[in-house]
Amino acid sequence: MENTMIRCENLTYKYINSEDNSEKYAVNGVNLEVEKGEFLVVLGHNGSGKSTLAKHLNALLIPSEGKVYVDNMDTSDENNTWNIRSKAGMVFQNPDNQIVATIVEEDVAFGPENLGVEPSEIVKRVEESLKTVGMYDYRKHAPHLLSGGQKQRVAIAGILAMRPKCIVFDEPTAMLDPSGRKEVINTIKKLNKDFGITIVLITHYMEEAVEADRIAVMDEGKIIIKGTPREVFKNVELMKKIGLDVPQVTELAYELKKSGIDINTEILTIDEMVNKLCQLK
Ligand code: ADP
Ligand code: MG
Repeated sequence: MENTMIRCENLTYKYINSEDNSEKYAVNGVNLEVEKGEFLVVLGHNGSGKSTLAKHLNALLIPSEGKVYVDNMDTSDENNTWNIRSKAGMVFQNPDNQIVATIVEEDVAFGPENLGVEPSEIVKRVEESLKTVGMYDYRKHAPHLLSGGQKQRVAIAGILAMRPKCIVFDEPTAMLDPSGRKEVINTIKKLNKDFGITIVLITHYMEEAVEADRIAVMDEGKIIIKGTPREVFKNVELMKKIGLDVPQVTELAYELKKSGIDINTEILTIDEMVNKLCQLK
């Protein structure tokens, strides 16, 4: 328990259609634990319930049934909401919707200002956060003139300035070009490895998912596979059945095996593939 950052117990959420009062289960009976310092990726096709799950992790949504605990705090207890939001930050897909100020450093200061942090401490945190995401040189710039990847890094700095223990990223690279994607993913990895921040990353890029400690795969509101990237991606057929890809080299190994070649299909990287191929007789 000590070591658990997030715990979902039978998390269930239903949207109610206001026109006919019909109910739709967006998340249905999810059990999930995320350890402190862990890097968890959530995969799933559109509409599988990923964003609804994510919004429960910082009390933007409260379960219809079941419980969510963030650092042992029950999200359904309103007395915890403030504390939970400052501990578990959230970064969304569209950086333009997350930037509130007209100068980068003012934007980053916005979060800690709202938390009531002292001005001298805010100055310190803004500087540190911008350095961490590699945007310090842009502190006087106007955010709307930055590239997508730079804007997203400013949004991340704004969260960092609140000193969170955990950050939930909901498809943070979906609107970025390949170089912007790389900037943002490298930043996320750094926050996890160098600062020990717990990461929950929702993505549909397989090359991002292979970097995770663990992957949870969602389908129709449920988590249907959970495990290390190796354990998850070896389920090539199941992944394809629910409309997801596996890394290209994993698929290649799978096809080679199907055509009768004696090769282990638990391959995630090109280097591993080269090694295995060289061992073939
Ligand atoms: P994902 O992020 O995996 O694409 P979502 O969590 O956004 O999935 O959506 C899960 C399901 O809940 C979908 O069927 C979606 O249509 C439905 N849903 C999401 N948001 C709302 C909403 N505000 N009102 C009604 N239904 C919604
Ligand atoms: Mg979504």
